Amino acid sequence: MTDCIFCKIIKNEIPSNKIYENKTTLAFLDINPVNKGHTIVIPKQHFETIEGTPEDVLCEIIKTTKKLIPAINQAVNPIGVNLGLNNKSGAGQIVPHIHLHIMPRFNNDGHSLFGGKKASSEELKLLSDKIKNLL
Ligand code: AMP
Ligand code: ZN
Repeated sequence: MTDCIFCKIIKNEIPSNKIYENKTTLAFLDINPVNKGHTIVIPKQHFETIEGTPEDVLCEIIKTTKKLIPAINQAVNPIGVNLGLNNKSGAGQIVPHIHLHIMPRFNNDGHSLFGGKKASSEELKLLSDKIKNLL
């Protein structure tokens, strides 16, 4: 896709700090890291959402992520990593080229996880039935 910033990174049309690439995927450091070592993993083909990405490509994204995490751990020594995928603009996706965030975490790094909301058992049962019936 011509005006996609991540496609431009793939084609070396704009600079980036690439750390790994193979036939299907590319990984580079996020330009505005939430923490040191924040890495973006993308497919080399342009797809926008997880629903729109072929399963084999999704598997390759996860395989690349699994390969990178031990190296990132050694490089920046975090206490854990969060993986994030903002799927569609309503969920915070700014770059419309599917990407997995690898975000190293550190003690007192100022970030927190999503807070849970209370839900009744009836509500959960109804919703699980609804989703199950739509599969
Ligand atoms: P998202 O909100 O999930 O679409 O996240 C997009 C991410 O891409 C953000 O964390 C940005 O900091 C990152 N980003 C945008 N442009 C670049 C770039 N040129 N090089 C590296 N990372 C980028
Ligand atoms: Zn793209």
